Amino acid sequence: MNDVAARVKNLDIAVFDGDGIGPEIMAPTIALIQQVTSQVPDYALSFRSHPAGAGHYAKTGQSLPAESLTAARKADAILLSAMGLPSIRYPNGTEISPQIDLRMELNLYAGVRPVTIFPGAPCPLGDPRAATVDFVLIRESTEGLFASHGKGTINGNESATETLVITRKVSEKLFDFAFKLAQRRKAAGRGKGVVTCVDKANVFQAFAFFRSIFLERAKAFPDLTANSAYVDATALWMVERPWTFDVLVTENMFGDILSDLGAGLMGSLGLAPSADIGDDIALFQPCHGSAPDIAGQGLANPLAMILSGAMMLDWLGHENNSDGLIQSGKRLDDAVRAVLAEGRFRTRDIGGTSTTQQMADAVAAHL
Ligand code: ATP
Repeated sequence: MNDVAARVKNLDIAVFDGDGIGPEIMAPTIALIQQVTSQVPDYALSFRSHPAGAGHYAKTGQSLPAESLTAARKADAILLSAMGLPSIRYPNGTEISPQIDLRMELNLYAGVRPVTIFPGAPCPLGDPRAATVDFVLIRESTEGLFASHGKGTINGNESATETLVITRKVSEKLFDFAFKLAQRRKAAGRGKGVVTCVDKANVFQAFAFFRSIFLERAKAFPDLTANSAYVDATALWMVERPWTFDVLVTENMFGDILSDLGAGLMGSLGLAPSADIGDDIALFQPCHGSAPDIAGQGLANPLAMILSGAMMLDWLGHENNSDGLIQSGKRLDDAVRAVLAEGRFRTRDIGGTSTTQQMADAVAAHL
């Protein structure tokens, strides 16, 4: 092995192609990541696909095989498209969702959902200030109401119960993550230095507890402003004045709902990326599901998946102290913005007739 090869560090990316439109948006995303990182001198990324999802469950009776979970645990990062199909369910009637199991198993507590209105995207808001919307919703992703996932009970066909869990350990880590993100955004001139805890502390003790931990942790970040807001009012303000937000942090179920509202503001679920981040491993996937209604037709918008790939490069760059990877992530993100701003290529969800591959090719041409 020559000296240059010896200095190149390999990063192992565990890939989950998933169900529905998953494989259609994953393949061009990997190609773009390979293209944009080909010039990074000190790191090489290798991609390995692992089985999981509704299709795999239908064939084998397993939704997330132990080997796939182990591979995800060992990887440097995880790239996941979308999993689950309404037609394939567990015997208790719930959908196959290994992405939720992965978040729980790997303790990926911080679900990062950026809400940015890109120039050229079909934002439904008429106000010109909408062009300045740029905030991040952080959804706790391992507990809250989802702690009850697979554990709910139906009692004698008369009542049903699911239990919401908030722990101090996870909440402290979650809030510290949110405050540090706000500091980084402020330092980069991108944020206002404001973190808002979104809860329902006026009605539920668990949320009063959640808010009290938030206010405790806020004391360690005197350079930032800590606000609290109720989730119902936040939904209203996300429509009325989303340009006033910087970093929002919330419980799992509230975050699940608000992040789809955020994607609606962005103009399409097909434009909304996300990351699920733990202490030393992270998973990147678009906010949307497997969209079975358009699967196999070349209609899927690949941009949310591609933007999730850009977030992965940024995270890997910071984790490995590689400016080359950070810059690759930025180039990929910039290329997506350029395609949207140019407006020549648009998939159906954002008002055009371009195919998934044409959209990805347009991004490649901008790199
Ligand atoms: P989940 O609960 O798994 O998030 P969901 O039930 O909310 O999934 P999605 O699969 O996200 O549903 O699809 C919701 C709608 O958005 C569908 O009409 C689908 O076609 C559309 N959609 C989702 N992702 C895309 C995409 N990448 N490109 C185009 N349309 C999309």
